Amino acid sequence: MMKPKRLVMIPGPTPVVSGIREQMGREVAGYGDPDFVSDYKSVIEDLKAMFRTKGEVFVVAGSGTLAMEMAISNTTKRDDNVLIVSHGFFGDRFIDLCKRKGLNVDVLASEWGDVVPVSEIEKKLCEKNYAAVTVTHVDTSTGVRAEIKEIGAMLKKFPDTIYIVDGVCATGAEIEYVDDFGIDVLFTASQKAFGVSSGLYMLWAGEKALERRKSLGIIPEFYVDFDKWQPIMDNPAKYFATPAINLVWALKESVRIMKEEGLEERYLRHEKNSHAIRSGLSAIGFKVLAKEPYRAVTLSNLIYPEGLDDATFRAKALEEGVLVAGGLGPYVGKMFRFGHMGNVDIHELIATLAAIERALFKSGYKDFDFGKSVGVFQREIVL
Ligand SMILES: *Cc1c(COP(=O)(O)O)cnc(C)c1O
Repeated sequence: MMKPKRLVMIPGPTPVVSGIREQMGREVAGYGDPDFVSDYKSVIEDLKAMFRTKGEVFVVAGSGTLAMEMAISNTTKRDDNVLIVSHGFFGDRFIDLCKRKGLNVDVLASEWGDVVPVSEIEKKLCEKNYAAVTVTHVDTSTGVRAEIKEIGAMLKKFPDTIYIVDGVCATGAEIEYVDDFGIDVLFTASQKAFGVSSGLYMLWAGEKALERRKSLGIIPEFYVDFDKWQPIMDNPAKYFATPAINLVWALKESVRIMKEEGLEERYLRHEKNSHAIRSGLSAIGFKVLAKEPYRAVTLSNLIYPEGLDDATFRAKALEEGVLVAGGLGPYVGKMFRFGHMGNVDIHELIATLAAIERALFKSGYKDFDFGKSVGVFQREIVL
């Protein structure tokens, strides 16, 4: 039997287009190679300009979790208070991370699918002095998008608090402007909406975050210290630790694609696609976990219709050529997660919907008409 082409429709890694793959497959250069140095420099400059900060951007080898570590390490010190706003699994990830650093952690958590209201965050911030607050822009476990702009505006009343935004499942698809939104630290990873393979993270630090770093003196962390990387970002010909050369090239191509499309247009494309995907899948029996005004454009978390077995459905989907992700935490076995961010195109989306229908049928769930989700998607997308 001829196996279908396998589409990776999980919330990261996302599909990698050929132009980006070519960069990853290039003959490696030395980190001091003048051509590479100028490519690295141009990526850094573009990222600063696109996401609008007068501060710094760090492009470093590592996954998104290491960026979380960099964000916290450079803005807090032992015994500081940190407020963690959590809308799910990745929000919660900051709890363990911060506790290990000897920080006093307070958590405001929502029900899965909902958000913590901005007024509640404000109330909590009035109780004591917080060195930092963390918010996950899109929590991949719930598909919920936080109100990061509104939170940033509210935080103007708390000038001593550093605003850290985890954009790992958002940056490059959802709208985010660092300085305009009052964000002090924003970070993402290469394998999500940037559509590069995993292995790089990008972290923007605004002027306030850089000031905070200065005030901390020597910090215990070595690899993620802003002070170690700042000279490299200023002049990538210098050495601190070997950069992920081919991934930097791949990121450069990814950034070129983003500039060509335009960030606002990219957001609108994601918004339109995500809405149509959810309409299509709702029409064949799935329910969206995230509440209506808080639905992310980057992924959808879809609760199974009654009687559909998770393991069977996902195994059948894979047989039909589509990899989707399972639920996390309280939603293990109850839903699947469909990543639709980055450079994924309309053909891949339609093929995914069609494969989901075949997987449903082969899992024994037949309470739908073939073509229904595709039809609903198509009708929405042509308008
Ligand atoms: C994927 C993800 C992370 C972790 O990134 P890794 O690259 O897997 O370390 C953190 N936060 C969010 C919101 C994510 O989606």
